[in-house]
Amino acid sequence: MTLHCQKIGHGLPPILRSATADLLTIHGPLLFDWAARHGSPLNLVWPDALQENLAALKGVLTDCRVEHAIYYGAKVNKSPGLMQAALSAGAGLDVSSLYELRDARLLGAEGVRLVATGPAKTGAFHQELIDCNALISVDPPGRLEDLIHGLPADVGPQPILLRLRPRNQSKSRFGMPADAVVHCLARLAGESRLRFDGLNFHLSGYLWETRVAALSEAADLIAEARRMGFSPRMIDIGGGLPIQYVDRARYEAHLAAQAPEDYRNGKIPDSFYPYGSNLSAADWLHRLLEAEMSQGRSVAGYLAREGLTLAMEPGRALADQAAITVFLISRVKALGPDSHVIFVEGSSFSACETWFASEFLVDPILVPATRPAAQSPPIRAYLAGHSCLDEDVLSNRWLSFPIAPHAGDLLVYANTGGYQMDLLENEFHRHAMPARLCVVKDAEGHPILVPDTIGEV
Ligand SMILES: *Cc1c(COP(=O)(O)O)cnc(C)c1O
Repeated sequence: MTLHCQKIGHGLPPILRSATADLLTIHGPLLFDWAARHGSPLNLVWPDALQENLAALKGVLTDCRVEHAIYYGAKVNKSPGLMQAALSAGAGLDVSSLYELRDARLLGAEGVRLVATGPAKTGAFHQELIDCNALISVDPPGRLEDLIHGLPADVGPQPILLRLRPRNQSKSRFGMPADAVVHCLARLAGESRLRFDGLNFHLSGYLWETRVAALSEAADLIAEARRMGFSPRMIDIGGGLPIQYVDRARYEAHLAAQAPEDYRNGKIPDSFYPYGSNLSAADWLHRLLEAEMSQGRSVAGYLAREGLTLAMEPGRALADQAAITVFLISRVKALGPDSHVIFVEGSSFSACETWFASEFLVDPILVPATRPAAQSPPIRAYLAGHSCLDEDVLSNRWLSFPIAPHAGDLLVYANTGGYQMDLLENEFHRHAMPARLCVVKDAEGHPILVPDTIGEV
């Protein structure tokens, strides 16, 4: 390899499950057909991947003999197919808005399968959660008063959690400190229409260690609640389980080697998601359950002895490998002797972190439309969206392509299911919203597309 293209060796190819790898290789022509039919970018979803992820987590919980309730954090992706996959695999749903709640109900979810742990709850959302007796996480204390005032006189007990803000999250605006939790418990003591089910927290960052610390604080409050006469049944640890997007060793080599000149704007972003995590979500959960909580007792041991259910709301981790985003290259423009910009058709709000001053540190995969000429030189390029804004880029990072991409080729971002698909999408320039379809197998085992809408999947 020449010095000129040394960065190619530091690439960040995504980890792919076999269904995705097959689609990009043996079923390549199908991918072009689908992109031609449904436009660019095209979001493809594999609901069965979510079920595999769920099974992996459930396996760990069962091995460690932990009573559990997993709710898929549905906000990570607008796909009803993924919500349906979670429900049909026996999981619940964490709904964060009236609209997610209504979809969940249309998909047949009973209130006992639903929790609402998110912070932004409108009055109307609360009301519909109460109507179906879904579990509601309450935060801040003022919300408890609103809830009490909104409850009909004859309602059966409405289950609630109180959201704790653990000491290691003191800068967060979500959750309440321990003394406020105790204050809420005192308020609940005289209120028979509400049933205190336990505590919940959701931490930023991806370390299981911070969850163990938060669990210890929650344990003290569970004990306090019992002294006050309550019968809590669960501790809910929220989400934040990690995904492995790229190989850890490659990722670390990349971080160690990257320099400002690797970015078109001459700036290394200050922070990244840990794309090369050393733990899978299942390993992470295993570490958490085996960790020592206090006096030689593990988290799993504590939960068993106290008869508590461990609840959690993984979002990103359940969407791991469950979707890809396919872009059609509309133009490749030379900017200088050694640098290019690749324009992709449609919006650039998917598969991109540049709007957060960060970078999606996963390389797109080039799927050429025609067999490349043997002598095609490698090129360096960044990716831009199809708008009038100079800053509208999918990557500020210079990407190396061993084979030069051309208009009509496809660029595929793998593993976009968790927040990378539709968090920022809009109809800027009146481009249509990207299509989202589910990939399933036909009777012969060939991949086919079905609409990702309620009633179809
Ligand atoms: C977003 C969110 C989750 C899911 O987080 P992930 O990092 O995607 O697992 C869980 N709980 C709450 C309260 C959230 O806001």
